[in-house]
Amino acid sequence: MLRPREAVRTLPTYHPPLCGRDGLRLDFNENTVGCSPRVLERLRQLDFEQLARYPEREPLEGAIADFLGVPPAEVLLTNGVDEAIHLLCETYLEPADEALVVVPTFSMYRIYAAATGAQVVSVPSGPDFRFPIEDVRSRITPRTRLIAVANPNNPTGTVASQEELLQIAHSAPQAALLVDEAYFEFYGKTVLGTWRELPNIFVARTFSKAYGLAGLRIGVLLSHQEQIRAVRRVSSPYNVNAVALACLPEALADQTYVRQYVSEVLAGRDRLERACEDAGIPYWPSHANFVLARIGSPEFIRLMRERGILVRDRSSDYGCEGCVRITLGPREHTDRLLATLQETLDTLGLATGASKS
Ligand code: PMP
Repeated sequence: MLRPREAVRTLPTYHPPLCGRDGLRLDFNENTVGCSPRVLERLRQLDFEQLARYPEREPLEGAIADFLGVPPAEVLLTNGVDEAIHLLCETYLEPADEALVVVPTFSMYRIYAAATGAQVVSVPSGPDFRFPIEDVRSRITPRTRLIAVANPNNPTGTVASQEELLQIAHSAPQAALLVDEAYFEFYGKTVLGTWRELPNIFVARTFSKAYGLAGLRIGVLLSHQEQIRAVRRVSSPYNVNAVALACLPEALADQTYVRQYVSEVLAGRDRLERACEDAGIPYWPSHANFVLARIGSPEFIRLMRERGILVRDRSSDYGCEGCVRITLGPREHTDRLLATLQETLDTLGLATGASKS
């Protein structure tokens, strides 16, 4: 058998379930109802031409650039944010370089960075998962070449302020600072465009969450045009498939759909946070489409699944002992979630109060 590279042999593994996710899926922060009907309509109209040809990414990079108000040279479409992270690691990390992450956070930063042979430096978040700005700054060295910050963060839903992000970019001009804005639509604050003053800033966005297109695998990486040019060199010219490219204009055009979905999620998030409070369950106020809560019972996830709702076990993440992460959807899904939550807490004898809707 072939022997993988040392960095690959020692890689931490990440095993999301790749089958059998039946029920109401509140475990992966997807849109729980799906995409705009305009996207589905476009899908139905696809013809053999579009599938027979290699996909043409450039016109869509122009469309995204227009939508975001940046020049096309600052945009690279990617196969989800996952690929954007991978490309950044390939572009900037040498073995023995350092990649800095604040834990707990999204697993793929560590995996792609470590796969290059770079050393991953984990900085623990502060009390209540606050962004540890001083600790991050103190761990920056001349070898730090990548700093990845999910903002809002997954799995905590917490955020770093714009000032903190800019301070980091300023403190580490030798490093790419990736601000992963996968949950931007639920938060509304961005560092888009700040690379004109601090060219080492990158922003990533995705169509997997608010837009309901996780299955199409489409995201975008944005930065100063010279940095994007460098990243483009390691990207496949056909990294985003033709179906995703065909659907993208419709997804972008239907902002009414996205706004409506986001407003329902935010209302649901308030209700879930209140339900946790009423039941005496510790949780962290979230800026994304999910809430992290310390339920404390290993039985909880199994019982929720038996009752038709999938939630995500985060108990092995740093500082997340006994925690589950629950994704929010529109009103009918929140109704179902809260009823099942209450029932399950009652079964486990964990409810200290009644949840209200
Ligand atoms: N970044 C963060 C912070 C995420 O939580 C996720 C999805 N769980 C991703 C990126 C992956 O996004 P995509 O589907 O665009 O690859």
